[in-house]
Amino acid sequence: MIPIKTPEKIEAMRTAGRISAKVLRKTGELVRPGISTLELDRFAENLIRLEGARPAFKGYGGFTGSICASINNQIVHGIPSAEVILQEGDIISIDTGAIFDGWYGDNAATYAVGEIAPEAARLLEVTEQSMWAGIDAAQVGGHLGDIGHAIQGIAEAAGFSVVREYVGHGIGKAMHEDPVVPNFGRKKTGLKLKAGMVFAIEPMINVGGYRTRGPYLDGWIVYTADDSLSAHFEHTVALTVDGPEILTAE
Ligand code: MG
Repeated sequence: MIPIKTPEKIEAMRTAGRISAKVLRKTGELVRPGISTLELDRFAENLIRLEGARPAFKGYGGFTGSICASINNQIVHGIPSAEVILQEGDIISIDTGAIFDGWYGDNAATYAVGEIAPEAARLLEVTEQSMWAGIDAAQVGGHLGDIGHAIQGIAEAAGFSVVREYVGHGIGKAMHEDPVVPNFGRKKTGLKLKAGMVFAIEPMINVGGYRTRGPYLDGWIVYTADDSLSAHFEHTVALTVDGPEILTAE
C-alpha cells in the first residue's frame, strides 16, 4: 500500500520540509576547513529544536547524530564526530531530517570544503543535476521507473555510477514509507505515480564503480567499494496534478 496524502497532509508536511531545508542550508554555510562534523551536528540539532521540531535521525536505529555527515569515499550515514575535522579539498554530504507535528522532512546536499579538485566539482554538479532530473520525472500518470531512469541517464552519461543498495523512499508520518525509489531503472516500468504520493528523491552517485562496502563495526557508515568519491543530493517531493512540488524548500 502506497500512502496517498490529502492536500491538508501535504500542507502539514511543508512545515517539516521548510525546517529541514533551513537547517541544511545553514549547516552547509558552516562547512569550512577545520570544523568538525560534531560541531556541524550540534549546530543543526540546536536549530531543529529552536524551530520547534525534533531531529529525525537522532536515535533512529541507535544513530547518535542529528545529521549524517559523510566525507569523500563515504556514501551515506557518516556519524558526526569530534575527531572528523574537515580538510581543504574534501567533499561532505550532509543529510538533515526534522519531525514537526509528527511529519517528516528529509533533504541532503554535498558541499565542497574550500577548493576541490575539478573531478570532485563535476561530481557535485552532476549529482545535483541528476536529482533535479529525477524530480522532473516524478509526474502524475508516469511510472516509478521514470525517476530512476532520468537519474541514471544523467549520472552515467557523465561517466559516473549510481549506487544500487541505497535508494529513495516514500515519506510522511514515518521517515521511510513505501515505495522504495531506486535511482536507476527503466522508463514506463513500475508503480503508477499518483497525486498525493510523497517521495524522498535522493541519488547517491560515485566517481568509480557503484558497489559499496560496509557498514562495519559502527553499524552505519557506507563506503564506495573502490574508495572513489561519492556525492548525495536529496529533496522531499510531493506529486501533484500540477507537477512535483519540493516540500524541503524555504
Ligand atoms: Mg532519505
